[in-house]
Amino acid sequence: MTMGLRVDVDSIADAMAVPELLDLLKKYHSKATFFITTGPDETLRNISHYTGKNLLSIPLKRYIPGFFQSIIRRNVESHQALQVLINSGHEIGIHGYRHYEWMNFLHKKNIAEISNMIETGCKLFEKVFGIPPRSFSSPGFTTSKEYLLALDDFDFDYSSDFYGFHPFNPQVGDKKFGTLQLPVTIPSPCELQDDDEKIIRNIRELCKKDHFILYIHPSCELLYRRELLESILECAGNTQLLREIYENTSDIRP
Ligand SMILES: [Zn+2]
Repeated sequence: MTMGLRVDVDSIADAMAVPELLDLLKKYHSKATFFITTGPDETLRNISHYTGKNLLSIPLKRYIPGFFQSIIRRNVESHQALQVLINSGHEIGIHGYRHYEWMNFLHKKNIAEISNMIETGCKLFEKVFGIPPRSFSSPGFTTSKEYLLALDDFDFDYSSDFYGFHPFNPQVGDKKFGTLQLPVTIPSPCELQDDDEKIIRNIRELCKKDHFILYIHPSCELLYRRELLESILECAGNTQLLREIYENTSDIRP
């Protein structure tokens, strides 16, 4: 059994919580793959989604630490807190460009527009981290045929854009896409909103399988469900980079 741990950095609030998350991962001898979004933090555009909802609900509460920095639309990838990831032994990949725009408007974009977004994001990523990203994940698991066509031109080792169990190459009609997908097995604990006991039971069941991938957000699971996160890390043992799953992919494909 191996649990691949994917950490999505969607916003400034996520970036600010990364150093504390690294300390926690060290405590449990765990490794993770961090997918960092690029471009301005557009968290404030999300506000309309929460109108009339409980203002202290987790999804909104998790954005509060980065609220003032998102007012000035500061770029997420250039936040200094992310520097701790360099040479940390954890993996870093790119989580698209302009997270909000991607999640909500990807379906309206053509291949050239999507390629342009990926290319811009890769340049910003390389400028900050000194290496080009080798892996990708689509913000909000939002995909389209145009996106998959654009993605294939970038030669990433793998991408993580879907839910599922086994690595696969997507197919639409007769068209089979070349970029290997490493799907996420279960939604993040904050999204599930199940009680801790039920989530741990589920993780224990998944631990009996060859491998599975869990994803989290630092500003959510670390800050608001820390006890649960620690229980997961304790029960899943040493977690794995998605790159390690990718490198062993011939062993685990169905
Ligand atoms: Zn995201």
